[in-house]
Amino acid sequence: MATGKINVSVENIFPLIKKFLYSDHEIFLRELISNATDATIKMKHLTSIGETDVEYGDPVIEVKIDKENKTLHVIDHGIGMTKEEVEKYINEVAFSGAEEFLEKYKDSAKDSGIIGHFGLGFYSSFMVANKVEIITKSYKDEPAARWTCEGTTDFTLEEAEKTERGTEIILHINEEDNQFLKESRIQELLVKYNKFMPIPIKFGTKEETVDLPANAPADAKPEKVTVDNIINNPTPAWTKQPAELEEKNYNDFYRELYPMQFEDPLFHIHLNVDYPFNLTGILYFPRMTQDMNMQKDKIQLYQNQVYVTDNVEGIVPEFLTMLRGVIDSPDIPLNVSRSYLQSDGAVKKISSYITKKVADKLKSLFNNNREDFEKKWNDIKIVIEYGMLSEEKFFEKADKFALYPTVDNSYFTFEELQNKIKDTQTDKDGTLVILYASNQDKQHSYIEAAKEKGYEVLLLDSPIISHLIQKLETSKEKISFVRVDSDNVDNLIKKEEDKISKLSEEEKEKLKADFEKVVPKQYSIQLEAMDSNSAPLIITQPEFMRRMKEMQQTGGGMFGMGNMPEMYNLVINTNHVLISEILNTSTNKKQERLIKQSLDLARLSQNLLKGEELTAFIKRSFEMVK
Ligand code: ADP
Repeated sequence: MATGKINVSVENIFPLIKKFLYSDHEIFLRELISNATDATIKMKHLTSIGETDVEYGDPVIEVKIDKENKTLHVIDHGIGMTKEEVEKYINEVAFSGAEEFLEKYKDSAKDSGIIGHFGLGFYSSFMVANKVEIITKSYKDEPAARWTCEGTTDFTLEEAEKTERGTEIILHINEEDNQFLKESRIQELLVKYNKFMPIPIKFGTKEETVDLPANAPADAKPEKVTVDNIINNPTPAWTKQPAELEEKNYNDFYRELYPMQFEDPLFHIHLNVDYPFNLTGILYFPRMTQDMNMQKDKIQLYQNQVYVTDNVEGIVPEFLTMLRGVIDSPDIPLNVSRSYLQSDGAVKKISSYITKKVADKLKSLFNNNREDFEKKWNDIKIVIEYGMLSEEKFFEKADKFALYPTVDNSYFTFEELQNKIKDTQTDKDGTLVILYASNQDKQHSYIEAAKEKGYEVLLLDSPIISHLIQKLETSKEKISFVRVDSDNVDNLIKKEEDKISKLSEEEKEKLKADFEKVVPKQYSIQLEAMDSNSAPLIITQPEFMRRMKEMQQTGGGMFGMGNMPEMYNLVINTNHVLISEILNTSTNKKQERLIKQSLDLARLSQNLLKGEELTAFIKRSFEMVK
């Protein structure tokens, strides 16, 4: 028997492994199964190129628990290793690999955002085992070998009895890690990391009911048989060509990924690129809720069908982390910190490729079936609007298919909207005034008033819409968004001849003074000539102030405006009969009452009358009715 010292300069590599990777003990199984898979695929390759005449057969990788001996076994039928190869690959290569990994890991461990620990490989088994055995027989005509190591730098290597080709790794599990001797725990790990690996993985057996043949007698009982419990689907949808798959296959795969999800996705995007980097995958657009954070972390990242993480931050652009699905790429460096990842050139390319693919897919959905796209708009708009805000490239593309719905359920692209309203909603400076509402119930009277004048009113109700509006106003020429209850709605578009007031300048001054005596200071009083059918008093909010406030609420205070006070305009329609009446009322007391009552009515229509004031208003109104 050969004994020896593993040749590493880091004397106590095992304590280090345990210390650094404490939180991720479970990945040892993923590493061992990856090695077993690699060895099996290599075997397949060798037979396919005629390098050897051994039978490849139908190999599976088996995982077994031996409770009595407290061991966990991973068995493959891959190429195996000769004694010399064990010496070379395990004692030299594997150890230096582990050493190198720990060197790297020491720094990045400080950065909490590590996403994977590939590279440690075989030696991660010492995180959970105090003794590891390798029993292996090469496909070459040489005797089998047994290697053992008890977590020190000493090992033994001897000839072994094994006759079957392949490798068995035996882990003698530590007392404190005995969770890895439990079936349910191992099953859980296999499903988490190996659900889509390319070689079938067997773990125990299960009972299955066989369907009875059609001609079976009536009293026949369905037969139960014991079959291998195969963990994985070795050919998941993303590894196939789009041409091989139908809508149903995509939806079935969605369910395989998210078994608890009962709703079908709205549509999918199949990613498939091999130059200048390798990437495959399928992304799904689910129905979006308004809460953007809730749906993050649903995309799974794989490397050659091995699960790595469900945190794809840095790889997928932020706005697309709301999607679901799978990305598989061997070109994403995994044992590095997130900040490194974000600056990595290859990763940046991947991110912009994904953005482009998503934009192209949306464009083709829009082109090929506009009606369907409109139907889905409300469920997908949050992603698109968020993307338009955060990625300039995406903005340019999405500008062609982003939709602006009206309160009457018509959907316009920006260009269509421009053409539609340019004759009716351009102000005297040539600026296109786009009217919008954010809530059909709350702004009902304002919407109706605008519609009556023949204006088109959009319904824009996403939580981030004020940011998008700001973005549109700065990137397009001569446009201005104005909410229906904002100041100047009318003024902006009205022609000069419509602005003639019935009141003289003197009368106007008196009117303003009368109101100022009664109306609280937070209202800025404005006199305006509107037609006599418009309301006598209208409360509006300065568009700019309101929007800044909204952006502050959704944008995390990045505008540094502190807490802004509520500001309102009280617009007095000088052409309304009630206003004339107020002006001509001679007793102060009666005038005050009229002003107060009309102000409260105006506030009521903006949902601004609350609490004590509302109670007083209602009481007063009942008195008047009576
Ligand atoms: P890596 O897999 O990253 O190369 P490992 O430490 O996991 O590093 O393994 C070192 C080497 O040992 C592998 O490259 C391979 O040559 C050999 N090896 C490990 N496991 C097996 C196995 N089950 N069958 C055949 N060879 C193996």
